[in-house]
Amino acid sequence: MIRHEKRGLAFALPLVCQQCEHAACIDACPADALSRDPQQSTLSIDHEACTACGDCCGACPIGCIFIDGGSDVAFACDLCKGEPQCVAFCHAGCLTLVDYGPDEEEHRVQRLVDILKAEPFAGAPPERSQ
Ligand code: SF4
Ligand code: SF4
Ligand code: SF4
Repeated sequence: MIRHEKRGLAFALPLVCQQCEHAACIDACPADALSRDPQQSTLSIDHEACTACGDCCGACPIGCIFIDGGSDVAFACDLCKGEPQCVAFCHAGCLTLVDYGPDEEEHRVQRLVDILKAEPFAGAPPERSQ
C-alpha cells in the first residue's frame, strides 16, 4: 500500500510504511488492533478488532496507514510476507527492499517528514492511493 505525493509533473514521492519499531500508530490504537507480527516483524492489523476510528492514520507521521473505503478497516503495508510485489512490479526499478536497523528508524522517518514539510508538499492534502 503505497501513497504517492506528487510534485508537479516531474517528481513523485512514493511513501510506504516504514515498519517503525516504535510505531506511533500502534500506540494510538484504542482498540489494540495494531501490533507487531512476531514472525515477520511487520505491522499487523487485527481487522476483527479495528473500529475504523482513524486514530492510527492521524498518528502516522508520513500518512501510511489508511481506512479502506470498501471494507471500512485499516490497512497498511505488510511487506507482502517478505516478497514485496511493488518491488517486483515497478517497471522503472525505483523500489528496493532495504533492511534498516532500529538505530536508523528515527532518521529515515524524520527524513520523509522533512521532505513532506518542504514546499510544495507543505499543506497539501493527503493524496492516498493504494
Ligand atoms: S503506519 Fe506509520 S507509524 Fe505505523 S509503522 Fe508504518 S510508518 Fe510507522
Ligand atoms: S482505525 Fe482501526 S487500527 Fe486504526 S486506530 Fe482505529 S481501531 Fe485501531
Ligand atoms: S510490500 Fe506489498 S503491501 Fe507493501 S507496499 Fe509493496 S505491494 Fe503493497
